[in-house]
Amino acid sequence: MQRILQPGEIESLDRVDFPRLRLPEPATLFQERAARLLQLAEGHPIAEYLRFAARLAQAQQRQAARLSAPAAPADEERLRRAREHGMPLWPAREALPPQWCETLRALLADLASAPDHAGVPAALRAELERLAGADDAALGALAQRALGGRLRREDLAGAPIVMAALQVGFANRAAATREREVPADVPPTVCPLCGSEPVASVLRIGGAAGGHRYLHCGLCASEWHLVRVKCSHCESTEGVRYQGAERAEGPVSAQTVLAETCDHCHTYRKLVNQDKDPLAEPLADDLASLTLDLLMAETAYARASANPLLALAEVQAP
Ligand SMILES: [Zn+2]
Ligand SMILES: [Zn+2]
Repeated sequence: MQRILQPGEIESLDRVDFPRLRLPEPATLFQERAARLLQLAEGHPIAEYLRFAARLAQAQQRQAARLSAPAAPADEERLRRAREHGMPLWPAREALPPQWCETLRALLADLASAPDHAGVPAALRAELERLAGADDAALGALAQRALGGRLRREDLAGAPIVMAALQVGFANRAAATREREVPADVPPTVCPLCGSEPVASVLRIGGAAGGHRYLHCGLCASEWHLVRVKCSHCESTEGVRYQGAERAEGPVSAQTVLAETCDHCHTYRKLVNQDKDPLAEPLADDLASLTLDLLMAETAYARASANPLLALAEVQAP
């Protein structure tokens, strides 16, 4: 006899053989993100911004390839602390990757190297020059404000570039981590590797991960599984619903990106559905669906977490 499964039962049905954690592959991550951003830019109202984000992702890919040596593994003390306290292995604000400032300067040099600054919006060029001249201490302070969601108004233009440099370092380190070292009992609402909030979630297709929903870390690009019935912000199993835009922005179906809303914590986070578009990429598709954010701003749901390449909503009141 057929009956309706309760949330707890659905979860136990889910315990078949599929990866709980998908560690990033920096060699392809930034390349695929750049390609997706360029595809999304076609005929898009914010095409110039998406092309710049693609240009940045291409520069990230070149820097990721240059970090040929894998990151140093976690030492015993770090592994023990994470295990005992159920905390992320590399909490972002305490564990900035070594040499991230060099990566940042290399990204800035890459952006400035194209003929006529191709792809870099004119308004941003002075800011990039200012960042290139900043010392390590000033960059470190800016990184702390960006990671802590405490940006000042004057930080806004440079913050996405700083986050881009940190993404390269954190993804490199996540890729070098052995899965068995990742603590299993970190709350599923934050990344088990770096403790950042997910930028979006993604319904994957193909392979063992196919048909499963993963939360995608906006910083290190690790992905971890969470059953769809749960809110990705508060883990409530009640009142999770989906809302979408009526019309597409640019070339991609409006069904590819939906806002998953929760009536318990009154937030939303986007779900990117590869079943609707196999090339969908969580961070890129989140960035390109700003219209959905504008529509959601009219509702009672607040955005759960920001996109690290778009530093707008986090301005602190003066
Ligand atoms: Zn992470
Ligand atoms: Zn919730």
